[in-house]
Amino acid sequence: MSNVFMVDARSRSSEESLVRKLELLMDRAGLPHIIGSSDRVAVKTHMGAPLTTRYLRSFYVRTAVDYVKKLGAKPTVVETTGLGLLDPRGTAKKYLEVALMHGFSKETLGAEILIMDGELGLDCAKVEVKGFKLKEISIPKTLLEFDFILNLTHFKGHEMTVFSGAIKNIGVGCVGKETKYFIHYLNKPSVDIALCNGCGECVKTCPVKAIHMVNGKAVLNQDVCYGCKACQTICPVKALKSTRITDPSEIQLRVLDATYGLLKTIGFNKVLNVNFLLEVDWKCDCEHQQLGWSDLPIVPDIGILASKDIVAVDKASIDLVNAAPAIPGSQAYEVGAINPGSDKFKMLYPKADWMFMLKNAEEIGLGSMNYTLIKIR
Ligand code: SF4
Ligand code: SF4
Repeated sequence: MSNVFMVDARSRSSEESLVRKLELLMDRAGLPHIIGSSDRVAVKTHMGAPLTTRYLRSFYVRTAVDYVKKLGAKPTVVETTGLGLLDPRGTAKKYLEVALMHGFSKETLGAEILIMDGELGLDCAKVEVKGFKLKEISIPKTLLEFDFILNLTHFKGHEMTVFSGAIKNIGVGCVGKETKYFIHYLNKPSVDIALCNGCGECVKTCPVKAIHMVNGKAVLNQDVCYGCKACQTICPVKALKSTRITDPSEIQLRVLDATYGLLKTIGFNKVLNVNFLLEVDWKCDCEHQQLGWSDLPIVPDIGILASKDIVAVDKASIDLVNAAPAIPGSQAYEVGAINPGSDKFKMLYPKADWMFMLKNAEEIGLGSMNYTLIKIR
């Protein structure tokens, strides 16, 4: 049975500001006892995609940064590049522009922002993993220099994993492009010779020179390719093919493999997971490859949860969202998940199963679905 600590979203005075409550939550979850006074702390968050409006607000991250500093430790706000190199968060530079637009900067956060996998998402190390599906994962080399991860997650829905919480913020949010690629695709791209018109755009675009021309057709070396998708985005005739995974359970297992491999490398006891059940959208930022959007939240603000157990904190988050009434006019309301207790995630995403993901998270050894919810007042 794992402890999940909770502060609710209600504030009646400055003493009950959610900023103060977040500090109290980190206290009660034991953060002062689990990070060392000189530890380098990776404060992991997601800074939103262009045109989304419901990402985690920067002042919560600032509060966590200041809290870590008070403990004498050294915080850095960390993220990784998005999967597609040509997408709006595809390089470190582009992601930092989005971050700035959304109010995330060294000045607002009080700490440096580090896009851990480097400008192109190439600065990664390969780590072996005996997972359900993946045999190895790529981890940003700079992440390996940190002593602790403070995993700050805006909890929300997701088309494939059904929910997007602490597990996904690690298993997708902290890994390199190559692993992100193999979470979404079965194989690296290959050239459909019949379609290729020899324009050479892919050769010019590939950052690792994995493609060259032979007899007027593109030839791709999959051993050099790291799955940045740039050639697939640029090709005017869609001649670069790979098999997109459409089975949600297959994607869920791959996310779990990546999460397990990463936490095994960093240390399972080197993470505190903080889930923000505020402005809970049914869509995830990462589902927007180009330009995004945010919908009405599906339930009223609930509060903030914290746990050392990454499975318990996500299970408690799902339970609390399902226990809440749907906001009239929201997507949850429209699909009929109106009353407290209705399984909103199941009704929003009937083709996928959140319980399958959590059961397998337990099986691989990430944590426990059994939890005690400790409400802090
Ligand atoms: S971009 Fe497409 S059409 Fe052009 S050379 Fe590459 S594979 Fe062929
Ligand atoms: S060949 Fe691979 S590395 Fe090169 S652009 Fe295509 S996906 Fe990216």
